Amino acid sequence: MDEIALLSILATTPREAYNYLSSLGSIPLLACVLFALIAGFLLLFHWIEIGCRQPACSELKEKKWIILPLVLLYFFGNYLTSIFPADRFLHLYRKNGPLRAFTELQRNLPRNARILKLDRSEPFLPGSVVLVLGESACRDDMSAFSNISINTTPWEKSCRQDQCFFFYPHAYSNFPNTVMAITQALTSANQYNKKPLKDAVDIMTLAKKAGYETYWISTQGQSSISDAGITVIARQSDHQIWLKGPDEDILQSLAQIPAGKKNFIVFHLMGSHFRYDHRVPQAYVEKQHWADVDKREKALWYCRSLHYTDFVLKNIFEAAQSLPLQAMVYVSDHGEDMELTHTASPFKYDMVRIPLWIYLSPSYQQAYPQVRQQLRAHENAIFTNDLLFDTLSGILRAPSNFYCRQCDLTSPDYNITRDNALTLHGKRRIANDPRS
Ligand SMILES: [Zn+2]
Repeated sequence: MDEIALLSILATTPREAYNYLSSLGSIPLLACVLFALIAGFLLLFHWIEIGCRQPACSELKEKKWIILPLVLLYFFGNYLTSIFPADRFLHLYRKNGPLRAFTELQRNLPRNARILKLDRSEPFLPGSVVLVLGESACRDDMSAFSNISINTTPWEKSCRQDQCFFFYPHAYSNFPNTVMAITQALTSANQYNKKPLKDAVDIMTLAKKAGYETYWISTQGQSSISDAGITVIARQSDHQIWLKGPDEDILQSLAQIPAGKKNFIVFHLMGSHFRYDHRVPQAYVEKQHWADVDKREKALWYCRSLHYTDFVLKNIFEAAQSLPLQAMVYVSDHGEDMELTHTASPFKYDMVRIPLWIYLSPSYQQAYPQVRQQLRAHENAIFTNDLLFDTLSGILRAPSNFYCRQCDLTSPDYNITRDNALTLHGKRRIANDPRS
């Protein structure tokens, strides 16, 4: 187990822990395992205790006896910090460790926001820009991106014929872990500029500076560890709404947003977060007339969760038209492997093959024809989602002193290619993906 896996465990919520444990076996089975562990521990304790009844050092006199336990305590304490889980835990907080980076990001964001300067103030059309962050969606299993027998994403697939949509079938995640991927996606830090998070600005601060009213609406729970990463970014927005229900509940929050203003709205979905069957409401299963299938059919329930996300995206797109909607971006944090889910070690490329599509309204395309032209020209380009900050800077028409035009899909200077594209925070090359 590496430090990123430990980070996932520390960042988990009771609901997520229950989802995971219940996928391992039935509740009676888990109870039996727990009972066996407790019984084993008590037996071991009893056995050691019997051994301790005989004094080992009877010849030590007066205060000399205290030396031995102190020496033992010192070596045992030192040893404990070098083995799992203490060693991994200390790694998280070491210099350049992920948790240290999140703490530094939180501390430095106000300072970096003061340094942030827009290159030019370009008038933006009234209306909203929407970013939907998906969860654990792998484009290999999405019919809008892959030639597969099941139509898992019917609405998105139909949008491929629409001239207002731009699809990117070679998009990748920067890291197969939610908090690690999103902190780079939504800040100016990326794998190519190697800028540490502590020197970065976030997309919510940029959008506010460009005159947008900002919203963060999430169906992912807040946790103390995620607080150090994603929630820090969410808190930079003007309005935050945290929901517990299924993803379609965000539509009620969307309906409350006043029309006619310049809004930048981020939706963070539960998407296909493990367990997949828990992501699909029963009412949706019935509406689709889907057969009652065993919850252990992981691949099938994963496809159903993608189908449900497709339905949620369609509804967001339609409901946002009244704002009016000027641009919409859908991208996943990372992909998913049916056997290993998503981990840094062992790593597989399906954990980072993600969907990305962008919508531009007809009025947006009329106002900024060069954006449409560049997005179309780059449809077959390799993209890694740590470049989202720069691409959104382009869509929001808000380049700044933290912006890199070589990382922006809307720029003619975009230069991420198969040869230089990276993932796993620079440790793997996209060129080594057999499907790239
Ligand atoms: Zn995730």
